[in-house]
Amino acid sequence: MSARTPENGRFDAIIVGAGVGGLYAIRRLRKLGLNVRAFEAGDGVGGTWYWNRYPGCRCDVESLEYSYSFSDELQQEWHWPERYGTQPEILRYINHVADRFDLRRDIEFNTRVKEAVFDGKTNTWTVKTDTGKTVRARYCIMATGNLSTPRKPNIVGLESFKGKWYHTGLWPHEGVDFTGLRVGVVGTGSSGVQSIPIIAEQAKHLYVFQRTANVSLPARNVPMPPDKESAHKAEYPERRRAAYDTPFGIAGYPPPMKSAREATQEERLIDYEAKWAEGGSISFLYSYTDLLLDKESNDTASEFVRRKIRTTVKDPKTAELLCPSDHPIGTKRLILDTDYYETYNRDNVTLVDIGSKPIHGIMPTGLRTADADYALDAIVFATGFDAMTGAMKEIDIRTDAGLSIRAKWEDGPRTYLGIMIAGFANLFMITGPQSPGVKSQMILACEQHVDWIADCVQYLRARGFSRIEAEQEAEDYWGQHNNEVADRTLYPLANSWYVGANIPGKPRVFMPYVGGVTAYKKKCDEVAAKGYEGFRFDRCVDEQLFAAK
Ligand SMILES: Cc1cc2nc3c(=O)[nH]c(=O)nc-3n(C[C@H](O)[C@H](O)[C@H](O)COP(=O)(O)OP(=O)(O)OC[C@H]3O[C@@H](n4cnc5c(N)ncnc54)[C@H](O)[C@@H]3O)c2cc1C
Repeated sequence: MSARTPENGRFDAIIVGAGVGGLYAIRRLRKLGLNVRAFEAGDGVGGTWYWNRYPGCRCDVESLEYSYSFSDELQQEWHWPERYGTQPEILRYINHVADRFDLRRDIEFNTRVKEAVFDGKTNTWTVKTDTGKTVRARYCIMATGNLSTPRKPNIVGLESFKGKWYHTGLWPHEGVDFTGLRVGVVGTGSSGVQSIPIIAEQAKHLYVFQRTANVSLPARNVPMPPDKESAHKAEYPERRRAAYDTPFGIAGYPPPMKSAREATQEERLIDYEAKWAEGGSISFLYSYTDLLLDKESNDTASEFVRRKIRTTVKDPKTAELLCPSDHPIGTKRLILDTDYYETYNRDNVTLVDIGSKPIHGIMPTGLRTADADYALDAIVFATGFDAMTGAMKEIDIRTDAGLSIRAKWEDGPRTYLGIMIAGFANLFMITGPQSPGVKSQMILACEQHVDWIADCVQYLRARGFSRIEAEQEAEDYWGQHNNEVADRTLYPLANSWYVGANIPGKPRVFMPYVGGVTAYKKKCDEVAAKGYEGFRFDRCVDEQLFAAK
């Protein structure tokens, strides 16, 4: 059933995006009796898992964790076939959720929101889309995603390329067959590392163009052991609750007890080997208490990984290039792989160092670096996203008081709790910058934000308020707190997308909240319990205008 618009074009809430966050927002707000409308640029639900269809795309959180918790029936009935969900499997799951909870009827697909303007007299948002539609609503909820604005390659000569090129974040739905082709992959972040082993199996020759080496750990993916699945499902409610009491929102990993400095070299080797054999990023980071806090401790883990790379990759020069050396382990998103380093032992794979010899341009027949030309039939750009702020800044978000998000965030995002922004009343973000979103299990992060927003909306409606806005002092405090928390860790040492380093000209600001899910959720709950401390409220000028029905 397609989405219906009331004759007056007015809704209680507009939701932008139909990924896991937007879908849950539809469900939750609808249950409050709100008349909601979601707009989605794609022609289906799923967000990340709709767009990123590149070969090898897979979740790096275990599938029994990376799923919704809001319905026990749903989590009991769904069967995850592998330890880590593949993109097609996760997309199938999200489509199942959309159908099971009848969410599609409130979504307009193939519709991109271009503009959102707040009117302070009526406390409403007016939203315009690229299909020429204008709608109004009391609340506007940005479920636009943190990794949803692919960073399009800006390389001179690309338009002249005679072969085909792709971005991993905008992968063709029909798939791509690289059999017999000379392929170049530009970028060795998560998407590059996941796709490279699979493309290498198809391609005649694969050239991997690497600017900096990232850390990748073995995933150790396996078919889902039935006893593990049934044991997990038997404890689902407790496990979901326990996840909120962990730094990354993922339960089931015993927390570390001591610093890497306190362990002997032999003990460390045993511990790291066990974690390497177990697979997974959280488990590895949980080897010791201080891997993300203390450089010397971190060095012990970084060096362990470098030794693994050197023993896996046969060509010493290639191995050295693959050894991460410019950031402490874990301060960039840790990657999980299957046979990534082994792939460089294949005769048809060449690693090209574009850190020291940058790309000069693209020619009709291939790619030119500072010291060589590479003949290519296809190029894959695994160059990531304008992370965390890109999707919000693509929309022209303004107020009648003359404020705009683009101007306000010119020097980096400013928010209160990563949920609201001073000066922009009734505008909520799901997993916005300065919340732990990207540093946690993101379905949990989306659920926590949507629940908080829904409770807040209920609070407003119960008291006849039509307007909520973050106070400037609360926003300033939160920004300062974010920086202080980040500065106590090693995170700011990395040139990562957490600081916008992958986007030329983007201000260098550390964007995620890294104080951990436990502390963050506690703060959000406290704010709500104190009557939404740090927010101010107002009543409506024309309440009838936006009565629920
Ligand atoms: C390759 C990849 C692997 C990942 N792996 C993991 C993982 O292992 N674990 C984990 O926790 N997280 C992972 N993530 C993060 C992932 O983004 C989240 O887990 C989650 O899917 C985010 O859901 P979301 O609804 O917040 O945003 P998204 O899934 O990004 O959805 C946002 C939606 O909003 C739409 N949209 C944006 N702007 C507009 C607009 N102006 N108008 C209309 N529609 C708009 C987009 O089209 C998109 O569909 C991964 C991300 C990527 C890219």
